[in-house]
Amino acid sequence: MRLVLLGAPGSGKGTQAAKLVQRFGLRHVSTGDIFRKAISDRSSLGCEAKRYLDEGLLVPDSIVLGMIGSILDELFSTRGFILDGFPRTVAQAEQLDHVLANQKQPLDAVVDLKVADEVLFKRLLARKRGDDTEETIRVRLKTFREQTEPLRHYYALRNRLKAVEGARSVEEVFESIVEHLS
Ligand code: AMP
Repeated sequence: MRLVLLGAPGSGKGTQAAKLVQRFGLRHVSTGDIFRKAISDRSSLGCEAKRYLDEGLLVPDSIVLGMIGSILDELFSTRGFILDGFPRTVAQAEQLDHVLANQKQPLDAVVDLKVADEVLFKRLLARKRGDDTEETIRVRLKTFREQTEPLRHYYALRNRLKAVEGARSVEEVFESIVEHLS
């Protein structure tokens, strides 16, 4: 099974990805985790990415696309995968499509976790990470609306989008996702 988890920051992508990995034995790729690890390792990728994470902005496509290619290539030798936090822009989605087409392994679904902004804001405030401030949380939500939300349309046009109401308990959301996948 090949999945993308789409949803704003705070929509529960990481939590649901972990449950999907457990249920279906998928490989989990979180670009946010990759960047956080690179920053804590003080690698050159981390140094390039840090200021964007600190400000709540997206890391530029040129950096993301340079880093993700080899990770995607490796995924095809696994039982399936779940991409969490990638793609986040139309350019990234196009690159992913290109790799998937080359491998003749299309996505099975793009799960779209829908949660209202007020709920997202409260959740993000409650789990504040690192230098998160109310201001960076606002920037992250605005960035999602402007740069990532267009992917809903992109994947709807390709008949891949499965919308799931995300403002419910972890278990309820998980069961809805599983229903969409079966
Ligand atoms: P996340 O944990 O997925 O919310 O990601 C945390 C931060 O990492 C984001 O706010 C971005 O700064 C950066 N990031 C993660 N994935 C991407 C991506 N696919 N494209 C650009 N920036 C990303």
